[in-house]
Amino acid sequence: MERFCVEVIAATLKPQQVVWAAMHQDYSENFVWDSQQQWPDEPKAGELIVKHLLSGDRGHYGPLEHPQITFNVGYFPHSMMQQVRTHRVGVSFDVQSFRYTGQRIINVAEGKQDVEDVFYLRPVGPYTNRQGKRYFYSEEQRNEDIKWCLEACQHYQKRISEGLSEEHARGLIPFDARQHFVLSCNLRSLMHLLDLRWKKDAQLEAQKLCELLYVHFEQWSPAVALWYKENRAKKAKLSP
Ligand SMILES: Cc1cc2nc3c(=O)[nH]c(=O)nc-3n(C[C@H](O)[C@H](O)[C@H](O)COP(=O)(O)OP(=O)(O)OC[C@H]3O[C@@H](n4cnc5c(N)ncnc54)[C@H](O)[C@@H]3O)c2cc1C
Repeated sequence: MERFCVEVIAATLKPQQVVWAAMHQDYSENFVWDSQQQWPDEPKAGELIVKHLLSGDRGHYGPLEHPQITFNVGYFPHSMMQQVRTHRVGVSFDVQSFRYTGQRIINVAEGKQDVEDVFYLRPVGPYTNRQGKRYFYSEEQRNEDIKWCLEACQHYQKRISEGLSEEHARGLIPFDARQHFVLSCNLRSLMHLLDLRWKKDAQLEAQKLCELLYVHFEQWSPAVALWYKENRAKKAKLSP
């Protein structure tokens, strides 16, 4: 069972109502706060913002930048974290750098933690490379790779015991160490991230992250998420 997970640390309450209020201020003569008692409720606000901002690809996405959500993403490989970190506008990340700590690498070397709890290796199975050539990643290859990770941890432990700093020794760690990170974004940048990383040519693990992000998106902002799923998801559209 793969360990990937995404949890929500915090999120703007009533995000669709927040977007509606921002949209309403765009054309209202009055201070929208004053009419709070007449604001549409959350489901109705969702319906209205889809109709007036999103449907027909109007491209009026600014009001969607107000609601914020913060995720804790767990157990994804370093390579995936590195890919999603290229998204800079409206998205913030915090991730362990291995400059100061590397205890779980030592734990693996000492047999206190499972190799696969600390490193990600793709499951056994058929894959295709970037040129479309098919290949099979076998059980035997995978077992050899697990052994390789274990030996690298032992080497890391040796260098740390010889006095190297974590910042120096981290260069010996196999590339796909699992990393947990905190990712914050707004409703618009969340959709942008999904646009670029849920499409078929994105890294497989990034597509998996998007699936897990979408589960929370749907609970947090159902009307916008449904619109997104029907109109943009996996269609390789760019920059909402
Ligand atoms: C499938 C895939 C494969 C990739 N492969 C590689 C790779 O091999 N190597 C690599 O280095 N990167 C790779 N990338 C990353 C890619 O080059 C971009 O860095 C990444 O997608 C972030 O760009 P963004 O448009 O999402 O920008 P974001 O930072 O998320 O910004 C959102 C939007 O704001 C605007 N914007 C942001 N910054 C600027 C700016 N400086 N100037 C003008 N407008 C800006 C653009 O409209 C942009 O689309 C890959 C991305 C994908 C989706």
